Amino acid sequence: MHTSDQYLRLKRDFAELQLRVTQFSSVEQQLIIARDSLDQELVQYKRLNKLSAAILQATSELEFINLVTDGIIDILELESSIVFVGDSEDLNSGYFSSEGLGHYKGNQQHLISVLFNVLSTGNNIHLNKEDIQKHKELHVFSDVLGFLFKDDTKNSVLLAVGFVGVSNAKLYRNIDNRTKSIFSVFSDKIKLQFLNRNKNTKIKEQLERISQSEIELKKLSMIATNTKNGVIIANKFGEIEWVNNSFSKTSGYEMHEVLGKKPGNFLQGLETSPDAKSAISEALSKKLPIEIVLLNYDKRGREYYVQLEVIPVFNDHGEHVNFIALQKDMTDEIKYQQEILRMNSKFELVTDSSKIGIWEWDLINKSGVCNSNLRQQFGISEEVSSDLIFSIFKNSILPEDKEWVMKGIYEVIHGTALNVVQTFRIENNLTGKQSTLHCFTLAEKDTKGNLLRLIGSTFDITDSINAQQDILEKNEELKKINSELDNFVYSVSHDLRSPLVSIKGILMNVLRMGTLDEKATRFLQLAEVSANRLDDTIQEIMEYSKNARLGLTLEEVNLKALCQTIFDDLRFSVEDYFEFHYKSTISDLIFTDKYRITALLKNIIGNAVKYHRKDILNPYVELSVKHDHEALVLTVTDNGIGISEKSISRIFEMFYRATTSSVGTGLGLYICKEIVTKLNGEISAESQEGIGTTMLVRMPKLNAKDYENEIN
Ligand code: ADP
Repeated sequence: MHTSDQYLRLKRDFAELQLRVTQFSSVEQQLIIARDSLDQELVQYKRLNKLSAAILQATSELEFINLVTDGIIDILELESSIVFVGDSEDLNSGYFSSEGLGHYKGNQQHLISVLFNVLSTGNNIHLNKEDIQKHKELHVFSDVLGFLFKDDTKNSVLLAVGFVGVSNAKLYRNIDNRTKSIFSVFSDKIKLQFLNRNKNTKIKEQLERISQSEIELKKLSMIATNTKNGVIIANKFGEIEWVNNSFSKTSGYEMHEVLGKKPGNFLQGLETSPDAKSAISEALSKKLPIEIVLLNYDKRGREYYVQLEVIPVFNDHGEHVNFIALQKDMTDEIKYQQEILRMNSKFELVTDSSKIGIWEWDLINKSGVCNSNLRQQFGISEEVSSDLIFSIFKNSILPEDKEWVMKGIYEVIHGTALNVVQTFRIENNLTGKQSTLHCFTLAEKDTKGNLLRLIGSTFDITDSINAQQDILEKNEELKKINSELDNFVYSVSHDLRSPLVSIKGILMNVLRMGTLDEKATRFLQLAEVSANRLDDTIQEIMEYSKNARLGLTLEEVNLKALCQTIFDDLRFSVEDYFEFHYKSTISDLIFTDKYRITALLKNIIGNAVKYHRKDILNPYVELSVKHDHEALVLTVTDNGIGISEKSISRIFEMFYRATTSSVGTGLGLYICKEIVTKLNGEISAESQEGIGTTMLVRMPKLNAKDYENEIN
């Protein structure tokens, strides 16, 4: 073979070989690329599985959307992502999460609403540069890949979107079919998990509800067991299936004794109202609820009242299955009610017999009630309807009293006064007779202080006012008669005394002349004694009427000097030796009525002198003066004949004389008592026959500043 041919052949073979090698290496290259891309996909699927597993564990919505946000970046290898889960109607109500959106300067919430509109088709959508041009808000992105998925059963949506930004577009792979197909697997998985999550929450909610109703049931059975009210559960025939402890406690029957029995057969008795019984049987037969107050009997036959509530129970299919009966022990309430009724009727009896009118005005319903006394007082006949009572009440008040009376009542209505007590005149509607009422009005309020009604009582005081008026008039009349009498007594005594003084003078002169015989002298002496006695009496009557007629005249009096003068005057009226002592712990000057203190001491000291013992050597009278708190105390002690026990209580009576041995008038101490009374003081006596007498006078200091210089 020719070498050149050989060469050519060799050259041809080489070229062919070279071509083959080239072809081979391009296939190899393709193979390598395919293997790489398969590796890549494998990694992405692995990541996807990992993400699914993580999502399954996610306990909250927030954790779920955070995982999806990360997944978009990790698995699809995009630059940034945003995920939203929430209410399709209200985008502000859900949660969202984003990653890598630092370069997006706009509001992300707004970005979500833009994506909502753009992705509204429901499919996976890829927006490339040209599509993006149509949406101003998305201009910063070069690629947008995402979906919007709605769960119609729950009205909730899932939005998941990945982005590549314009500025970093070169660093990221183009979104090719491979990426899209992985995204479609990714989105299917995520959507499924989203639906499952929603279902899970539904199941959870249901479980929650069931456990809640179990708790409710437990609570109910606790209540039924522990309530203070009796509880009976009966079957549909009304036969007892269960009773609680309170039922046993009140009725005395244990559960085992009553099982299968009908409650009415052993709880009701003779006095149980037949109407109540038939109302219960009717409700039970019609399977209707009933509430009624009933008299029951316990195991020992004791009566007790219950408020009975029977409720028929139906199952889910509407079939009647049970009766539940609740029994509230009302015995105490009924007893209280009966007590109140009893009290009320007593109260009515009292008001009726005491002629007290009672009225009540309901301010909410604008209606009133009143008792028969009030109707009588105002002349309201039985036919007059109760809503007119208040206006009749108002219009019966005499015009001159009406304004202030109503003002007082409105003060009670408006809460400025709690109650008002008024005395006013009214004119009877039927008879036209005027009368005076004493009226007490008060407001009744609820616990919140809102006014409910006005309550009032009226008492006719016309008679007592007239009687009072009579007494006042009579009193005035008496006062007048009294002073006229005092004047009369004074003028009569005065008129009597002048001729008496002349007679006394004549008698004295005739006796002094000494020209009469013995017999005539004795007669005239007797006449003189009688004339003197008459003069004493007249003078004392004058003293009495002077005290009664004249008002007090207060002045400074030297008590010691006054007593000395009185004693000196008296000393000469007795023949015997007589001692006078004056003891004082206060100033001699006192502030008093001079005429009265003189008359008082004259009488008391005069008696001590008059009734002294003639058989002793040292008859005396001692006046001691002191202050006791705010009182001036005068004590006059003598060692005279004394006063017997039976007489001492009467010596201050008018004309009372404890002894006939002296020539007293029996007026002196009576006048003393009148004087001391006028000076607001008291007088008393202590005495022992044969030992002596002590007269005690106690009267208020008349002017404190005049008693300042006390002698201690
Ligand atoms: P009379 O004018 O009789 O003295 P009085 O009213 O002064 O009237 O006294 C009433 C009676 O009290 C006297 O009658 C006398 O019996 C008795 N009596 C009053 N003071 C004394 C006294 N100091 N000692 C004894 N008896 C007295």
